[in-house]
Amino acid sequence: MKYKILLTAVLAASAMMANAQQTAKPEETELWSPEPKVVTPGKTMADAPSDAIILFNGTDLSQWVSAQDRTQPADWYVHDGIVTVNKNSGNIETKQLFTNYQLHIEWRIPADITGSGQARGNSGVFLASLGKGDAGYELQVLDSYKNKTYVNGMAGSIYKQFIPLANPARPPGEWQTYDVIWTAPTFNADGSLNMPARATVIYNGVVVENNVSLLGPTMYIGKPAYKAHGPAPIKLQAHGDKSEPLSFRNIWVREL
Ligand code: MG
Repeated sequence: MKYKILLTAVLAASAMMANAQQTAKPEETELWSPEPKVVTPGKTMADAPSDAIILFNGTDLSQWVSAQDRTQPADWYVHDGIVTVNKNSGNIETKQLFTNYQLHIEWRIPADITGSGQARGNSGVFLASLGKGDAGYELQVLDSYKNKTYVNGMAGSIYKQFIPLANPARPPGEWQTYDVIWTAPTFNADGSLNMPARATVIYNGVVVENNVSLLGPTMYIGKPAYKAHGPAPIKLQAHGDKSEPLSFRNIWVREL
């Protein structure tokens, strides 16, 4: 009996909904503005779209400065359309500051790389630099092709926070790609955290970080903790290990 009453009620409700749908028009749920801007895409996913800011196109480091002293030029080695880390000069970062963006960057571990673990082709892309040294949010760069290390420190990891979902590493000597969608953290007026930073990372075409919410800036030692900040440069790491320096090329960013 109870079941019969329930069934009657359900049938009546669905009849009412069907009526409402008949009177509604499809136009009522169509939006015609704002129109997305027209962007001419690249020929491949690696090519900069028409609205990208080119951070390195193979000729010079005019978009970069020393992270240690922002009044000084970035003096890594530009040659053959690529830029190779100068381990003696330290990290470099962009002149321009960014908030939310899409980044494309390519990197290559030297074919003759030596060392093991974290001391084998270590570098990093700091998705927002928070000053000198390794302050910021690091997307790890490392030779992770048959090179064992702690998994939250391998290529594709958000250093010591998020293990990559897969390991699509190519062997040393081959170019590899990162495509990153970065959403900067936001802070309340009193400096407390409003929304954590989020990152999606596609490594050699494979999603390795799926919209992860960062716990704070990445730390070599200890637990991360947020501190309020505004727009920030993108920084590349000159890691202190003794292995042969790696190279980068084709770096571009689109502000979101
Ligand atoms: Mg690193």
